[in-house]
Amino acid sequence: MEKKVRVRFAPSPTGPQHIGGIRTALYNYLFAKQQKGTFILRIEDTDQTRYVPGSEEYLKKALHWCGIQPDEGVDEGGPHAPYRQSERKDMYKQYAQQLIDAGHAYYSFDTEEELNEMREKLKEARVAQPQYNSITRMSMKNSLTLSEQEVKAKIDAGEPYVIRLKVPRKDEVRLNDMVRGWIMVQSSTLDDKVLMKSDGMPTYHLANVVDDHLMEITHVIRGEEWLPSAPLHVLLYQFFGWEASMPQFAHLPLLLKPDGNGKLSKRDSLKHGFPVFPMEWVDEENNKLPGFREEGYLPEAFINFLAFLGWNPGTEQELFTKEELVKTFSIANINKAGARFDIHKAKWYNQQYLRLKSDEELADMLLPVLERAGVKSSREKAVQVSGLMKERVTFPAEIWENAKFFYEAPQRYDEKIVNKKWTEEAAIVLQAFANALKEQKVTLTADEVKAVLEEVLNALDVKMGKVMQALRLAVTGEGSGPDLMPTIEVLGRDETASRIQYALQKLGDQIKT
Ligand code: GLU
Repeated sequence: MEKKVRVRFAPSPTGPQHIGGIRTALYNYLFAKQQKGTFILRIEDTDQTRYVPGSEEYLKKALHWCGIQPDEGVDEGGPHAPYRQSERKDMYKQYAQQLIDAGHAYYSFDTEEELNEMREKLKEARVAQPQYNSITRMSMKNSLTLSEQEVKAKIDAGEPYVIRLKVPRKDEVRLNDMVRGWIMVQSSTLDDKVLMKSDGMPTYHLANVVDDHLMEITHVIRGEEWLPSAPLHVLLYQFFGWEASMPQFAHLPLLLKPDGNGKLSKRDSLKHGFPVFPMEWVDEENNKLPGFREEGYLPEAFINFLAFLGWNPGTEQELFTKEELVKTFSIANINKAGARFDIHKAKWYNQQYLRLKSDEELADMLLPVLERAGVKSSREKAVQVSGLMKERVTFPAEIWENAKFFYEAPQRYDEKIVNKKWTEEAAIVLQAFANALKEQKVTLTADEVKAVLEEVLNALDVKMGKVMQALRLAVTGEGSGPDLMPTIEVLGRDETASRIQYALQKLGDQIKT
């Protein structure tokens, strides 16, 4: 029987996760949901020196905003709790000991100076990548070179030590990555990585592999930057005797800068002003890093955009709800090549999802914006304005920014339109239209407004096209905007007539003959 799928997202709280991390979480989540498996959130906080307060909270909020809900994890609990590695600290020792007992790991007592000295010597001998490995370890201070008594004496005396993995000298480490296929690495190129630090904390490598095993993880889906660690992890599975239940690996492609040159970073955000973080974050230098959430991206647009950064369904379809992504996602369709970040695509997605919202939903977003701007609006009017503006904006805030004329009569008029379209003919029609409006009932539908205008145009024998822009100018101050008749319907009979009157007076001396 196939094992039940269990995947994890295992971030380290070393600062805000940029969208690469959230994409990893999303792919794990989609895969878990699709396979009716379990999605776990584990916090890997064993490196206390890199700990940044607030990172874990930030991450959990970001996942919540995206609708990526863990089944097991730091807050959810579960059969393998605790899920924060610092709270599991004592448990890792026995596994390090197991490796020592089996001859796959050893104590190393070298001081920082001794390690630097070794690296310097190797550099002088033109070794490109100085490593603590099967050759160099034999001239260092460790339990492979010292006698058993010496080792015991040092440990008893409380001398600091680390535990290192004893990487075999000549071995071929293989792994079959689900994205990249077979990968083979010569063990001679690997470092004798530290597994347990002198403060008694495990390193990432040990804690990660032990926890993946204990938590019965079936698939490790993570960023490409972890690919160089994968052979080491495979060795650990072998040495622990856990090879048969080793998870399958899938390393996700890098996220690249918009020009494709190098990894997408926080600096790109500062340079171009686009967000690379899910939510706003103020960094240690007090830079305010913009977030997709604060910029007005909808979570459903954000995850659709993210899903396509490194995956495609193999069809033309681009819009996928989360449920559709769950159905369609497959590891086989993850790309090997790095994915270029394109903010225009993110905006396009946002536009598409805004259009799918009902007028009522958009009004719920617009009303607080209006309130903050000190503008009074009935809900009914906010619904109408949202409906008229939704095809014309990318972000909810733009509804207000581009539609202020629904709430404030124009004080200034688009010069270009004044110069081109503010003609005597138009002024005559507008005056007649304003007069005709005043004779109508208080509330008019767009069709009724149109009928009044047509009647005026017929009587004066003027074509509609000759006056439409002048009318728009008088009513909104602008040369373009949402459909004019429904706009007038929202503004109402009296407001429209008074705006026309005001424009005729204000722009009276600019009429073209
Ligand atoms: N703690 C690692 C990180 O910060 C996890 C890498 C992995 O998934 O193995 O991304």
